[in-house]
Amino acid sequence: MIKAITGIKDILPSEIPSWSHLEEAIHSVFKNYNYKEIRTPVFEETTLFSRGIGEETDIVGKEMYTFTDRSGTSVTLKPEMTAAVVRAYVEHSLGKQQPLNKLYYISPMFRQERPQAGRLRQFHQFGGEAIGSSSPLLDVEMIDIAYNILNNLGLKDILVKINSLGIPGSRERYKEELRNYLAEKKEMLSEDSRRRFDKNILRIFDSKIDNDQNLLKDAPLILDYLDDESKSDFDMVQSMLERLNIPFEIDQRLVRGLDYYTKTTFEIISGSVGSQNALCGGGRYDLLIEQLGGEPTPGVGFAAGIERILLACENENVLNLPEDKIDVYFVLLDNELKIEAFELVHNLRSAGFKVDLDYMDRSVKAQMREANKYSSRFVIFIGGEEYASGKMNVKNMQDGNQFIMPLGNSEELIKWLVEVK
Ligand code: AMP
Repeated sequence: MIKAITGIKDILPSEIPSWSHLEEAIHSVFKNYNYKEIRTPVFEETTLFSRGIGEETDIVGKEMYTFTDRSGTSVTLKPEMTAAVVRAYVEHSLGKQQPLNKLYYISPMFRQERPQAGRLRQFHQFGGEAIGSSSPLLDVEMIDIAYNILNNLGLKDILVKINSLGIPGSRERYKEELRNYLAEKKEMLSEDSRRRFDKNILRIFDSKIDNDQNLLKDAPLILDYLDDESKSDFDMVQSMLERLNIPFEIDQRLVRGLDYYTKTTFEIISGSVGSQNALCGGGRYDLLIEQLGGEPTPGVGFAAGIERILLACENENVLNLPEDKIDVYFVLLDNELKIEAFELVHNLRSAGFKVDLDYMDRSVKAQMREANKYSSRFVIFIGGEEYASGKMNVKNMQDGNQFIMPLGNSEELIKWLVEVK
């Protein structure tokens, strides 16, 4: 038997209602904040991601699905969306059409990570990108949108964490201090952290190893090294979050994995999904657009993982989705009547009703079981004495009342259904 690839999952019909519910919430919240949807291709030239995300990151270093196509071009299935959105922004000169572009997306992403609960190789993200302004109010808007969506779903066990990475100058000074602090402890760090020490020192904070975290206990803190502008923007973010009643915590170890972040970074974590607890993450990326060939333009964004959010919803038991009912199910007392019933079914469907009938020549009892399985609001019986006199029996399943109606007059039936619905 051929199976799906490890870490890559089907989304089965039984799971679709919760996906649709979340997708509707995403579209509706982003629309309220006046964001426009953007869809970019599933794969891009590899250099977009290696240049945009950074050679030293885990994503580029070991997680990308990269292959050479038949023309010899190296292409990569998108592991994240910001670089792709920025590529589209620059390529289509979106900044010339309007100074601030507020964009959102829902899209599959691909990373060859070790699969575990909440970590897949094909997963789905939604997110927003606001390109064109350095206002810290947009940093807050991003957090507000993400928080609003999670809150609307009913999630309770969530926490917003924020930090600021400053601008490259102040960050370099901080990295230098951190390097000095860790230099004499380097040999005691884990192998992974020793590698990060050389290549991407901030990421040592992401280590899950207790001893690494112990060694970092008295490390210098990044906010002590912020430049004035980053500091005043960060103050603004905090006071605005307070005004909007969005609870948050400052986490000076929140460095985020990607190279392109500047100033504000944030994450929303969940207490109900286990070790992979980040539901969303984002921040400001004021240098990325230039780095990818555009005019120097500030930007800010976030990405949230749909599978992880749905896992949190399931664990907190917060999605009370309405039952997926149908309007009418036809029960045929004689299978010969199917042709006639099928025409009526067609007419009702065209009039906007959700209607079905049996295709398997099943017994009347089995057809009734189907009607109940779909919680059909009405069942129409065709056959027997009524059929002989050109009539059919319509049963309202909610109150049990039955009505005899003429067969072959779908207009009258539709009018009646519209009235009682
Ligand atoms: P990142 O782009 O790494 O900041 O991730 C943003 C969000 O996407 C995370 O907070 C997760 O919710 C989700 N995510 C990232 N990687 C995976 C993965 N491998 N499987 C499932 N969800 C993921």
